[in-house]
Formats: sequence, structure tokens, C-alpha cells
Amino acid sequence: MHPDLIFSIGSSAFVLLPGPVVEVMRRFTVGDEGRAEAGGILIGSHRGDHIEISDCTTPLRGDVRKPYLFDRKDRGHQLAAITAWTKSLGKRTFVGEWHTHPEDFPVPSGTDRATWRDITMKNTVASVFIIFGREALWAGIGQAGSVTAMKVVS
Ligand SMILES: [Zn+2]
Repeated sequence: MHPDLIFSIGSSAFVLLPGPVVEVMRRFTVGDEGRAEAGGILIGSHRGDHIEISDCTTPLRGDVRKPYLFDRKDRGHQLAAITAWTKSLGKRTFVGEWHTHPEDFPVPSGTDRATWRDITMKNTVASVFIIFGREALWAGIGQAGSVTAMKVVS
């Protein structure tokens, strides 16, 4: 099982990504699943400046999966966020999104940057963006239109 990952946001805030959630996303970078990009949303909670990710959605029937494209079109992702919000009495909701790239060490594409910009302009709180490659992942934090890379602290 993959260990939990902790990323730093600036000097005093952190993003927690549990190992089991890493495993769920990483599964889509290998074998048949790795032939097309995959993705979903990250569900979790904002605790002060910290973000604790607790779950993620995975590709759904209505999503578009191509070798170099993932388009999260299925309404089920949004529905999962609403369900999490309701079940947790407002504690857990959408905290970001993830997708895979068919490369070892992923870097955000122009399309990724444009999509993330739209998401961060709509949200009043920070969002987490993760790209899974075959060897490593790229993680960023975004707010008010700009997304910056986060470093793993453990
Ligand atoms: Zn991408």
C-alpha cells in the first residue's frame, strides 16, 4: 500500500493525500487503463488553511477518455461531491481534481492550465490539482486563477 503523502502549501499549511486514495488513482496509469487518460474529482475537507483529501471519483460512463485527453463530462462526479457534502453535514466536498498522463514524469498541459484557471476562478477556497504519470505525480494548489506546484514533505 502506498504511504500517505503530505504536501506543503507555503510554510504553514498542508495537503494530506491518503495512501489508499493514491492507490485508486495510480491504478489508472498501468495496463489497459493506462492506454487512455483517466480522472475524477478529489473529495475532502478544508480545515483552516489545510486540505484533507478523503476520497476521489474515478472515470464514469459519460466521461471522454482518449490517449491524450480526459474530459470529465459525466454528471456523476458533481453528484458524488453533493452526496459527500450532504452525508458529512457540510464537512466534505469538492476540493480539487485529478487525471492521468501517458508520461513518466507528468507536467501540466496548456489545456490543464486553462481548465484549472476556470475552476479556481469559480471557487472561493483553494483547490488541489493532481496529475498521475507512470513514475511520479505532479501536485499543485490553486486559487483565484493561478496554480502553483506543491512539494511533498513526507
Ligand atoms: Zn493533463
